[in-house]
Amino acid sequence: MTNKKRKRNNNNNNNNNNKNDVSKKNQQEISSASSTPKRTKSNQPSNFLQKMRARLSGGHFRMINEKLYTCTGKEALNYFREDSSLFNLYHAGYKTQMSNWPEQPVNVIIKWLKKQNPSFVVADFGCGEALISKSVKNTVFSLDLVSNDPDVIACDMANTPLDSSSADVAVFCLSLMGTNYQTYLEEAYRVLKLGGWLLIAEVKSRFDPNNGGADPEKFSKAISELGFNSVKRDFSNKMFLLFYFTKKEKHDSKRKKEIEWPSLKPCLYKRR
Ligand code: SAH
Repeated sequence: MTNKKRKRNNNNNNNNNNKNDVSKKNQQEISSASSTPKRTKSNQPSNFLQKMRARLSGGHFRMINEKLYTCTGKEALNYFREDSSLFNLYHAGYKTQMSNWPEQPVNVIIKWLKKQNPSFVVADFGCGEALISKSVKNTVFSLDLVSNDPDVIACDMANTPLDSSSADVAVFCLSLMGTNYQTYLEEAYRVLKLGGWLLIAEVKSRFDPNNGGADPEKFSKAISELGFNSVKRDFSNKMFLLFYFTKKEKHDSKRKKEIEWPSLKPCLYKRR
């Protein structure tokens, strides 16, 4: 599998085409504001622009984030289909948020994967920037709503193009966002081989029953009823919980419709 990294040229080379001197000057101010983050008295206007831009993109991120946590996967797919640039905006904001976390859950999962059999086939549900595929030797099917990378399969992860019983590991790293999250787990059950691993990392605040969050016991119970064994949990991190399951054969498990799925509290970020 190829892991091509695309480098984007962020320099705006089109200024020469602009015949209007005033707007040329403005463009220069804007581009210098984005490239020189120094705070000096003399560059107060660009400082101001820089702050405004950060505030605007922060606002956009929070809006898209809220949308993704409060709609179904199908709606989210249509949302990004209408304007795929929103996806890049979302991920720029996501990166900023994550940079405040002492540890990234995706790195914990990558470490775990590196200790497993390298022949394991991995399905990364809601892969974002496909960090898993870029970090391990395994075959990784990276799935997300938008694909800006030839290695990422664009789909709603409730309906992936992956074959049944084809993966050894299914990963959901901070990606159980839609209100219909159980359908993503049903899809993971279909795609996983018997005995295959299901790893879920989710934001801790979504599982705080005293604060409108789900009870992690109920969440774990619902997944077990879907047809998984709970193997391990790691609640030691301040920011996220980690659940490890393996796929079992369904014997007397409840029918899909009877499973009581707790609703997971949306993870909304505050304005800083
Ligand atoms: N797992 C990555 C990215 C987490 S952000 C990481 O840890 O770095 C959550 C990602 O899930 C976003 O990229 C979002 O687009 C994706 N996602 C949310 N709902 C989805 C759905 N229904 N189908 C596919 N991807 C989805």
